[in-house]
Amino acid sequence: MPSQRAVVLDEWGGELAVETVDRPEPAPGEVRVDVRACGVNRTIENAVQGGLSDDPGLTPRIPGHEFAGVVDAVGDGVDPDRVGEHVLAYFYLTCNECDACRRGDTNQCTDFGGWFGVNRDGAYAETAVLPAENALPLPDGASFAAGAVAADGVATPIHVCDRADVRDDDTVLVIGGAGRIGYHLAQVAGLRGAHVLAADVTDDRLAHAETAGEHVTAVDARGDNFAEALVAATPHGDGPTVVVDTVGDLDTLYDAWDALAMGGRVVSLTTHHDRAFDAPMKAYVVKEAAFIGSRYATRDEVVRAARLVADGRVDADAGESLSLDEVPDYHRRLRAGETSGTGVLVP
Ligand SMILES: [Zn+2]
Repeated sequence: MPSQRAVVLDEWGGELAVETVDRPEPAPGEVRVDVRACGVNRTIENAVQGGLSDDPGLTPRIPGHEFAGVVDAVGDGVDPDRVGEHVLAYFYLTCNECDACRRGDTNQCTDFGGWFGVNRDGAYAETAVLPAENALPLPDGASFAAGAVAADGVATPIHVCDRADVRDDDTVLVIGGAGRIGYHLAQVAGLRGAHVLAADVTDDRLAHAETAGEHVTAVDARGDNFAEALVAATPHGDGPTVVVDTVGDLDTLYDAWDALAMGGRVVSLTTHHDRAFDAPMKAYVVKEAAFIGSRYATRDEVVRAARLVADGRVDADAGESLSLDEVPDYHRRLRAGETSGTGVLVP
């Protein structure tokens, strides 16, 4: 049986180690992809810690979901012409038969099969096998690293902007503006003509956040007067019309809520089990405010993300390149807060 090298997790919350494992074969309806780039980031660290599933029956497991590569084999029932196709991966394992899937809201699948890299082996490996419908087209002109970022880091912001209906007269506050999602969200909101306030907490991160475009103004979230600073930084002095929280810090979120403009929308992306946002019902009515949850992206939005990075309208920030051997230590540094949180495995 042919073998390959992969990064394997022994148990949720346990250790990652590089091992030699059997190379997977695609089952009917599946494709095997020669992995050329896979994001290494906090979403995967959260999965490694058991934040998506802590079912011991799912380990040992090869993590990694945000990836791009070249189809190198197909299972029965899949068009053999797909061999050689450049693809990027859709993160969710969906049923494709429920009403949500059939209307295109694949992120709302009601017979959800879990996550690629959690419920089945992922792409911290030389090759990865996934359902054929999860391997989406990566256009010529996109690097594999950019395609890997597009699969989640750009697709998720597209979904957020659709959820909040971001338009040209909006001022979008991004809490966590230098992060992987925040940095690309600033760019996607800019494509819709919006002004962006990028809030973050270190000088380095604030400087990085502003490199997302001319339309971006960094706002220091560390000060005592964050809410006032936000209002002052909006072009008409009436506060942000859209707030996108990628962090989940409640003090920061309450300040943003206080600064929110009339008709404002707050979008939450975080999944902390133990934190709740509490505001009086009257406050929603008086401001005609909305609090909106946003969950990953649809398959269609991943295809759109791939096109945006391919034609250069979004500059994908893939971060530092890592070998398979460097991935376990990078996760240790992620856990310790010693990295920017953005790396890309090039196996
Ligand atoms: Zn479904």
